[in-house]
Amino acid sequence: MTDTAQPAYRVLARKYRPNTFSELIGQEVLVRTLGNALSLGRLAHAFVLTGVRGIGKTSTARLLAKGLNCIGADGTGNATLEPCGMCEPCRSIAAGHHVDVLEIDAASHTGVDDAREIIEGVGYRPVSARYKIYIIDEVHMMSKSAFNAMLKTLEEPPDSVKFIFATTEIRKVPVTILSRCQRYDLRRVPVDMLTAHLSMICEREIISADTDALATIARAAEGSVRDALSLLDQAAAMAADKLTNNLVADMLGRPGRSESYSILSSALNGDCGAALATFETAYSRGSEPEALVTDLLDLIHLSSVQAAGGNDETLIESERVMVASLAEAGIARLGRAWQLLLKGHTELGQAPNPAAACEMLIIRLAHAAQMPTPAELMQKIPQTPTKSPAPSAPNSNMPAPSTQDVLEQPDLEQPNPAMMQLTSLTSIVDLAETNGEMLLAARIRNHVRLVSLKPGNLQIALAGAAPDQLEGDIARALSQWTGQRWLVSLSEFGGEETLAEHQRENDEKLRDTIAREPLVAQILDIFPGASIDEIKTPETAIIGNATGSDDALLRANTDDEEMLG
Ligand SMILES: [Zn+2]
Repeated sequence: MTDTAQPAYRVLARKYRPNTFSELIGQEVLVRTLGNALSLGRLAHAFVLTGVRGIGKTSTARLLAKGLNCIGADGTGNATLEPCGMCEPCRSIAAGHHVDVLEIDAASHTGVDDAREIIEGVGYRPVSARYKIYIIDEVHMMSKSAFNAMLKTLEEPPDSVKFIFATTEIRKVPVTILSRCQRYDLRRVPVDMLTAHLSMICEREIISADTDALATIARAAEGSVRDALSLLDQAAAMAADKLTNNLVADMLGRPGRSESYSILSSALNGDCGAALATFETAYSRGSEPEALVTDLLDLIHLSSVQAAGGNDETLIESERVMVASLAEAGIARLGRAWQLLLKGHTELGQAPNPAAACEMLIIRLAHAAQMPTPAELMQKIPQTPTKSPAPSAPNSNMPAPSTQDVLEQPDLEQPNPAMMQLTSLTSIVDLAETNGEMLLAARIRNHVRLVSLKPGNLQIALAGAAPDQLEGDIARALSQWTGQRWLVSLSEFGGEETLAEHQRENDEKLRDTIAREPLVAQILDIFPGASIDEIKTPETAIIGNATGSDDALLRANTDDEEMLG
């Protein structure tokens, strides 16, 4: 507003302050519960209103005070959720000078003396109204002794006294107090509802505004009607004719949703130039890089939810379209973008030039979007090099089983099925795992070199820091599992490599083969310092998987943790 504005101008937040509970938007649950309590005559002596800052706790408390003391235009009304606004109590409460309605800010009056003052006042009957009402704001700030003094009053309050507590931090209010209160939680008003509310007000105030602009205000207000109305006031004062999204974005120092969408959409499509150009525009108009990245994260979150089959009912139509379009990138890409942005968001605070850091982040985002996802990557690799001739031992979990430790079928009179299977060290490990002996299995893998294996007779050498009596443990376990006596002896000779060594060697070969794949080579080239960290194949993950599969998972450890994971 200019200096020549009419002195009678009332800011929107005051002009549209709710006068009845039906005008209180977004708080249906509270209104319904309160209405029920009122109609059933079950109003408590004390209420506690809780919710985030700016959500309307104080106005709700005043509204409640009005409703409790309203006598109606004709002076005969009862307590109501629809205070008339005309009667003497309604008008003086609205003006803030009703003699029986006392507002106390606990943040400035925390001591026991203040509590005592209240308690002494409680003893007197209301001067003119139905109830004497104490509204105590930020009640969690009261001192412990003040709470204790208050508690006695709450335990046996006179019928003509009501307490209305308001707090942002309900957990700091002692349970002894809470247990004597009816609790009402004020919710953040959803963006679509707040947008519709702003739109209604614009219509009444003859403010011409784009829905997107109002939605941006609503989002910035984070569910607070009061904040939304203050922002609308400011924006309307700035707008020459129409309230546009760009104007609101400028005012707030944050990008408009459509700008964020445009940046993200370009980046995810690999169009780095377009993404940077949009950022440049938003930045030159005053968008903070931090606010931008936060908004990008928000969009990624919304579209990931959508891609996962979820749905956010509170989106306005234009957002719904953007989110649906972004969701097409798929969960894997969106997840990767989320990781990048989250990391970038933290780094932004440390960067000497946040705008440059933001640009770097966008470049990275666009670059990463062009990288195939692990699933796509594996589809493109013609053949997984882990493929080996079908394992000769049915339970083998080795990619390429050594034939050395596969012995001839034992010539037994009554072959025991378990014994039949035990033809290699691998099969012994499998049997241990099947029996839940994971520690023993690991020890065999790491410390046992096979020298010879015959049914009932195992000869081994030990490698590394093998635990004492390992051979004894193995013998006992084998006897137990197979139901036959086993002899396990230690040999002087070296024997084969351990299974762990064998595995490492195979992995090494596999790593080399994979690293030579053009796609992987490209990744290693693009991300300096990247290395192939771990290779997972279904064959090593699922024992006895006979089908095998080409979609082995590759986990590359890049300087962006989990970037490809
Ligand atoms: Zn009234």
